Amino acid sequence: LVREMGELDAAFIEGRPSPLAALPVQYADYARWQRESLTGEVLAAQLAYWRERLGFDPPVLDLPTDRPRPLAESYLGARRSLDLPAGIGDALSALGREHGSTLFMVVLAAFQSLLRWWTGQDDLTVGSPVAGRTRAEVEGLAGLFINTLALRADLSGDPSFAVLLAQVRETALGAYAHQDVPFEKLVEELSPERSLSHSPIFQVMLTYLNVPREEFAAEGLKMTPMGVASGTSKFDLTLSVRIDGERTILDLEHSTELFDPATIGRMSGHLVRLLESALAEPGRRVAELPLLGLGEERQLLEWNSTAAAYPVEPCLHELIEAQVERAPERVAVTSDGRTLTYRELGSAADRLALRLREAGVGAESVVGVLAERSLEMVVGLLAVLKAGGAYLPLDPEYPAERLAFMIADSRMPVLLAQERLLARLPEHGGRVLPLEDAAEPGEEVARPDAETGAGAGSLAYVIYTSGSTGRPKGTMNSHRGIVNRLLWMQERYGLGADDRVLQKTPYSFDVSAWELFWPLLTGARLVMARPGGHQEPDYLARTIPEEGITTMHFVPSLLRIFLETPGIERCAASLRLVVCSGEALPLELERRFFERLPGVELHNLYGPTEAAVDVTFWACQPDDPRGLVPIGRPVANTRIHVVDRELRPLPVGVPGELLIGGIQVGRGYLARPDLTAERFIPDPLSGEAGARLYRTGDLARLLADGAADFLGRIDHQVKLRGLRIELGEIEAALSRHPEVAQAVVVVREDTPGNALLTAYYVPTGEAAPGAADLRAALRAELPEYMVPAWFVPLSGLPLTSSGKVDRKALPAPEGGRAGGREFVPPQGPVQERLAAIWAEVLRVERVGAHDNFFELGGHSLLATQVLSRVREAFDVELPLRVIFDISTVAGIAEAVMQKELERADDELLARLLSELESEPAQGEI
Ligand code: AMP
Ligand code: MG
Repeated sequence: LVREMGELDAAFIEGRPSPLAALPVQYADYARWQRESLTGEVLAAQLAYWRERLGFDPPVLDLPTDRPRPLAESYLGARRSLDLPAGIGDALSALGREHGSTLFMVVLAAFQSLLRWWTGQDDLTVGSPVAGRTRAEVEGLAGLFINTLALRADLSGDPSFAVLLAQVRETALGAYAHQDVPFEKLVEELSPERSLSHSPIFQVMLTYLNVPREEFAAEGLKMTPMGVASGTSKFDLTLSVRIDGERTILDLEHSTELFDPATIGRMSGHLVRLLESALAEPGRRVAELPLLGLGEERQLLEWNSTAAAYPVEPCLHELIEAQVERAPERVAVTSDGRTLTYRELGSAADRLALRLREAGVGAESVVGVLAERSLEMVVGLLAVLKAGGAYLPLDPEYPAERLAFMIADSRMPVLLAQERLLARLPEHGGRVLPLEDAAEPGEEVARPDAETGAGAGSLAYVIYTSGSTGRPKGTMNSHRGIVNRLLWMQERYGLGADDRVLQKTPYSFDVSAWELFWPLLTGARLVMARPGGHQEPDYLARTIPEEGITTMHFVPSLLRIFLETPGIERCAASLRLVVCSGEALPLELERRFFERLPGVELHNLYGPTEAAVDVTFWACQPDDPRGLVPIGRPVANTRIHVVDRELRPLPVGVPGELLIGGIQVGRGYLARPDLTAERFIPDPLSGEAGARLYRTGDLARLLADGAADFLGRIDHQVKLRGLRIELGEIEAALSRHPEVAQAVVVVREDTPGNALLTAYYVPTGEAAPGAADLRAALRAELPEYMVPAWFVPLSGLPLTSSGKVDRKALPAPEGGRAGGREFVPPQGPVQERLAAIWAEVLRVERVGAHDNFFELGGHSLLATQVLSRVREAFDVELPLRVIFDISTVAGIAEAVMQKELERADDELLARLLSELESEPAQGEI
């Protein structure tokens, strides 16, 4: 075009006719040729090639975007250009020649290496245009000949850059040889799954322009190419490489809906670094080629420089003892109207510690504590520490079998128990010391801490968490770790003598460790919620103002329900600080919090049981414009790393596994060296001998300010209402049932906002065991929250092409309601009222007499709501267990009526008695 314009211009100025020769063929001829030639065997052969290359839908390239991908693309875009440093272009061409490849192929191999790093995907398809002028006749023709080739790479074999380059060469040559099928035709033929949110087959493109610029030869006229900002982007990302004389220019056209300019800036920096690394060491594994810029490396180090000189050498109980000495007469703990001063708490714990010492407890002994929330529980836990041992919570809510397993697995020499709970324990060989009188006044005894041999590195507590292989695992934490965590918390949030901290988290969760011990370190007051109170929003709403609670914890799921509880405005009078942790804190919940409790601080903390409660923190801000709630920055003496599969640090924005390093990393799993070695790996960066990194299995990315953003899990661990569950453990338990051959458990959210555990199982015989059967079997082994709501029998499990269970293909539980159970209307006023309460709490349209609470989406938090409404409606108090034991409207109605009868009897008796007393003389009754 440029050449012909020049020739025409020159001719017309001189009044000559067009000097151009007549065209040998026109575009229409080309179109006709294409239609006629691309048929039959030729077409079939070309299509067969592409079907073989792309037949199984290439996976969508999951680029880490700055914003969620919109449902429909708008194609809004921008472009960012940079010049490759001088000489690199030539050096890359030379590298290509050495490997029988072109510069284009070298750049494609580098681009695919970059995409692998950014997406974590090995199967990568990149589109690339070809000129399509394969015949001399059409070379000079104006018109659209361009076609697009989909170049698929497989990086799964951990190739070196040179090996990848050879693969890319093969792929490109094969594609060129089959370039005649128009891409549109190919899409039609392969009919990949279509979506408005991304283009089919590939989502990123590489274009390579090396067209020698034609000189424009016209008198008195000059032609200068001008870049045009189209404001569009055809794909998620298009990398164009342009050679212009000495310059090699990279353009990154990108969707502005998906990416911020800064992200594209970082990405082009990585590409340049990668090209340089590949040039320097083409024989090196792609997975090892350095990509991070030096500035980025420095930045990551800086975000992790959290060193703080805390006095972490004393043990936890020694720090509490120091507080006892500072203010012995101050109230330390209250529970159900009873109190202990610091002196009383300290000496009660000393007395019990002495008995534990006599029973052989010392450094590294694990001591089980079976107790409900009470003064005795606090004394018991402190006593174990004072005796030099580590406490292991034996949550009385857990089924006997699970407690038995924990007792056996941890080989405890002795355990502390409230005697009334002992019935919950199965037979076990251990010795039991009673807790009943632990909080009673008694004589002062000498403190045993000095001679126990326990130090900062000793075991402080062991908490069992769900285990993916079917058995729970005991997580070990040292004094030093938890002490660091508590001292950090004190430095950060400063608890004072007037503060009151509510202890409501079950002590089988590590959050309880800060609830219990932070106030006791600092002279604040520890207020024990009543047993079960942690699941009762009404109770909490009453207790907070009554007790003047200033500081407390919420799991987001409970916070959500709590914030909708009437009357919580009254909590804002005393409440100063709310800490969330345990599961993701959604943005809209953060907003609702500031609406309902203005002036109260909200903090989002994150951390696994394996690393002393929490390792990152974030102060929530009302009106934060960032549109998400991060988990924040590492706490003191703690480092976090977001890494790829090769455990290499990833840059800002790119998701990877979160690893934790530093003082709070736990000591591993009790008596599980294999699992410990797998998850607690050597920390090469720390510079300390023996230092470990904990692999969390959490997926996260770093934000531009260094705060981490939690994205989910990379395995089958889930959090359901803040409770940590390995789906594999439920599957293993279910598979142990004699009539179950195979089982898979997933979390489904068929009703928005109500995620439920759903079990799919293949029965061994003809008749499938029923849901009630299976539920009962699981309840004997697993905590209530791990028992699925739904049990769906299948004749076989759906499998993916690679033979794994295809979790996405599992069917929705049938019938939309209680396993397709027939609707039986509730009968009588009590059933009707109950059904109405269920319908309201469970947000379902109607509830039948025989519907099962759990199958309708019920769980323990909702059960407590049902009970508080039952209390209001019938004036009867039912224990939470009732719902788990009976679970149907008809059954619970019976329990209500039974209670009403008992009450009526009591009232009648009382009235008779009082009448007897008031009219004794007449004696007529
Ligand atoms: P746990 O051992 O019970 O404390 O559970 C730890 C797991 O809970 C982490 O590995 C995360 O998956 C999840 N988790 C804890 N805190 C948060 C948080 N603030 N945001 C998102 N997930 C969290
Ligand atoms: Mg935690």
